[in-house]
Amino acid sequence: MTDSITCVTRNDCVQLDAQDALAPLRHQFSLPDSVIYLDGNSLGVLPKTAAARAAQVVTEEWGVGLIRSWNTAGWIALPQRIGNKIARLVGAGEGELVVADSTSVNLFKVLSAALRIIQTDANQRKVILSERSNFPTDLYIAESLAQQHGMTLKLVDADEITAHLNDKLAVLMLTQVNYRTGRVHDMAVLTAAAHQAGALTVWDLAHSAGALPVDLIGSGADFAVGCGYKYLNGGPGAPAFVWAHPRHAERFWQPLAGWLGHAAPFEFTSDYRPAPGINRYLCGTPPVISLAVLECGLDSVLAAEPLGGMPALRAKSLALTALFIELVEARCAGHGLTLATPRASEQRGSQVSFARDTGVDGGEGGYAIMQALIARGVIGDFRAPDILRFGFTPLYLRFVDVWDAVEHLVQVMQTSEWKQARFQVRSSVT
Ligand SMILES: *Cc1c(COP(=O)(O)O)cnc(C)c1O
Repeated sequence: MTDSITCVTRNDCVQLDAQDALAPLRHQFSLPDSVIYLDGNSLGVLPKTAAARAAQVVTEEWGVGLIRSWNTAGWIALPQRIGNKIARLVGAGEGELVVADSTSVNLFKVLSAALRIIQTDANQRKVILSERSNFPTDLYIAESLAQQHGMTLKLVDADEITAHLNDKLAVLMLTQVNYRTGRVHDMAVLTAAAHQAGALTVWDLAHSAGALPVDLIGSGADFAVGCGYKYLNGGPGAPAFVWAHPRHAERFWQPLAGWLGHAAPFEFTSDYRPAPGINRYLCGTPPVISLAVLECGLDSVLAAEPLGGMPALRAKSLALTALFIELVEARCAGHGLTLATPRASEQRGSQVSFARDTGVDGGEGGYAIMQALIARGVIGDFRAPDILRFGFTPLYLRFVDVWDAVEHLVQVMQTSEWKQARFQVRSSVT
């Protein structure tokens, strides 16, 4: 299915916004007037509640409550309490998901667990399978674990995955939505096929949680991790989350066996006894201020629940991305921008990527085009070597923002504004 909205004029977009039942959700955020923010897939925007909440944690809970706040302000239970809120967005059950550490670290824990479970069941399985264009940190963690376990990390293209599900496979480790192209894997279908082959699955939900409906339990997934600072609006470096299916949660001590994953941390025993269920996936002391701010971000997503929740957000996200694709292709034709995101809506996450053909207009230009857009207040990002990436968060983006962003892109391309020297200088974070 390719959905299509024909929005011929800016005024049509204004009309779509007027009819949008999710439009009031935008008021939850503090957004600069001069910015069209198309990077919520990389760093979500600031909820208006976050600054006051952070100040309250610092001045009252820390400043006055001091160490008592671990109990009186509920600090010690934040990983579980906030985890339960995330669970609602990803189809996990109460008490099955905790917030901790970073996505990279959590991936290390769950992939270790999956490998240990498989190794005790069937020792012939020596392959971790992933997608060649998976996010690098996922591949580096997997490579490191493959080395430790005497295994091989095999990387294939998305279309080749099912052909590699066989009796040598230990774990299929995938990111549900590809960070470059926005292509969505069918979690239920691939999990079933991996299980059929006798393997386990580890899913990274970095670009799924808060972006589209996810059904971890329903799809039969084994393990999952995800990110707090992207679509969950948790702030820069927000803690991440980790989930293990209840059938696996207690089968293995995760390798970072820290005291807060202990069954009774305040008994201070010298031997490790893992906490029941997912709590053993905690390691050290939780980052309280970051967790409090993450909860503000999460609440901004959960505020959509009375308005239809994730299915309603998904429908708006697809309408925004479909419109962006349609307008860019219609208005920027001939400028060497090729759609890198699937056209079929069920295969498209909440972002649109265009590959910049090399050799057009006398240079590759992808990075410089994005810099020129950012200088105009249209903030997306660039993923080397050639991807211009635009994220669409339906909580705060309007159809008119899509129109205006494309208008800026048209001007940048038609006037060759991006060729200016100032747009060629690379920053360390792209
Ligand atoms: C953003 C992202 C990460 C980030 O990992 P950190 O540990 O937070 O740096 C990991 N994996 C994927 C697929 C991502 O998109």
